[in-house]
Amino acid sequence: MQNKQITNYLKANLHAHTFRCQHAYGTEREYVETAIEMGIKEFGFSDHIFCPFKHGEVSTMRMKLSEVEGYVDTLNNLKREYKNDIDILIGFEAEYIRDFYEEQMKICRDYDIDYLILGQHFIGDEFHGPYSGAQTTDESILEGYVELAIEGAKTNSYTYMAHPDLIFYTGNKEIYYKHMKHLCEELKKLDMPLEFNMLGRATNRNYPNEFFWQIAGEVGNKAIIGIDAHDTTIIQNVEAYNQCMEIARKNNIEVLPKIDVKKTP
Ligand SMILES: [Zn+2]
Ligand SMILES: [Zn+2]
Repeated sequence: MQNKQITNYLKANLHAHTFRCQHAYGTEREYVETAIEMGIKEFGFSDHIFCPFKHGEVSTMRMKLSEVEGYVDTLNNLKREYKNDIDILIGFEAEYIRDFYEEQMKICRDYDIDYLILGQHFIGDEFHGPYSGAQTTDESILEGYVELAIEGAKTNSYTYMAHPDLIFYTGNKEIYYKHMKHLCEELKKLDMPLEFNMLGRATNRNYPNEFFWQIAGEVGNKAIIGIDAHDTTIIQNVEAYNQCMEIARKNNIEVLPKIDVKKTP
């Protein structure tokens, strides 16, 4: 395969989804081939993890348990097929949800999953907690987000925190500062990098949040860039990458070119 010799672009990405989550498009092969064309050397898939809902709720934004096998098989086949061009890793993006945690870890062990990233999309799960990305001035939602993220991080099961600035609190700035500084400090103690999210940048979401990264810069967190691919076009979006790197530079944040994944316990 022909490499376009793209120099100023990421070489490793651990954040990508597949059609199984019901809001991502294209085939895994297309993602892998696009990544190779872009000069990426390590590409991890981290589709939205299955949740073992207790009352038969059917999620519309994550894969089913019955799809895990196909996910892992497809990626293992691609891993072998493309081994000379790129390292493919198999992971999940997961919220930390107390009631689901043990069962999710068991699935990860059973399927020999390479890693997890922590993406706290909800305060709880999607049927019982608010969406973190919904605009709010309620401090208890901000606080709940930070608390769950820290509790999840402390399990040492997650390689990094995806879009830590997903929480869309638009109330008092000092309150935001206090809670997010606490999050940054705790994750720094745990040596857990924070992700600049390219998809958020490219689609003008509330993240990357400049104020958040100012706080992370003060605290001295390390960062990683995550594509958060839900289709192949974002894998080619060098501009979104550059814009994330610019926020990092402005706030003196070290961006790690690659990190070793944490095997789930
Ligand atoms: Zn998604
Ligand atoms: Zn994601």
